[in-house]
Amino acid sequence: MNKLVITVAPTGSLPTKKMTPHVPITPKEIVDTGVRCEAAGAAIFHIHARNPEDESASTDFSIFTEIYQGLKEKTNMILQISTGGRAGMGYAERSERLKLCPEMASLTTGSVNFPNRVYANSPDLIESLAKDMIQYRIKPEMEIFDCSMINNAVQLVKKELAAHPIHFDFVLGLKGAMPATAENLIHLKNSIPSASTWTVAGIGRHQLSMSLHAILMGGHVRVGLEDNIYYKSGDLATNEQLVERIVRLSKEIGRDIASPDEAREMLSINIS
Ligand code: ZN
Repeated sequence: MNKLVITVAPTGSLPTKKMTPHVPITPKEIVDTGVRCEAAGAAIFHIHARNPEDESASTDFSIFTEIYQGLKEKTNMILQISTGGRAGMGYAERSERLKLCPEMASLTTGSVNFPNRVYANSPDLIESLAKDMIQYRIKPEMEIFDCSMINNAVQLVKKELAAHPIHFDFVLGLKGAMPATAENLIHLKNSIPSASTWTVAGIGRHQLSMSLHAILMGGHVRVGLEDNIYYKSGDLATNEQLVERIVRLSKEIGRDIASPDEAREMLSINIS
């Protein structure tokens, strides 16, 4: 079986220190978490920035730069910068960080209802972010909250705003989007172009079950406090614990873990 690529999403936009002391907020905390997660077996590190004063989601380029440079110095992981819009919805705010030329960045190819608001990604915004990713030679991770977004990602390739093979991240279990069921995961997997790669991000208590399905189905896994702060009910997790658990479970059924360089090859990321 192909090796398992583990992505860790340690921070996101929502968890605060009050919710869990384990969420890394400052650039130093995020970089230190990266070092521990790489040692645990993560190959991809998904980056959000926070304003250290109030822990709110940040679009500040200097904070992204500090996190990115720190991780680049101290780890060999594939660094994936989020272009998500919780911190600021405009194109300018969401695209500036791409100038850091990370190997990967997330790209949500449609709009979706979050529990309390619309997460708006207009066609123009998506195409503008995709163009930047081509210009900076960044591999997009297509963030898929419902089936239509797969088609939108394929359309980007037709317009030469992205390239095959596409890498998808299926986000399942978020209120307002697709429920985290095995049937939905199978349907999504069967809806993507052949030769694509995919990972799954189960939200909340669905993180573990979705990860297990993906391990068995030959997909890849994303874990971390961005999507789920618990190890089990009532028991807070650290990011590295969530990575370690996936490593253990995957090895137990005979599927080895991809190193960052192996993940680069599997995901067709340019090694410069
Ligand atoms: Zn994110």
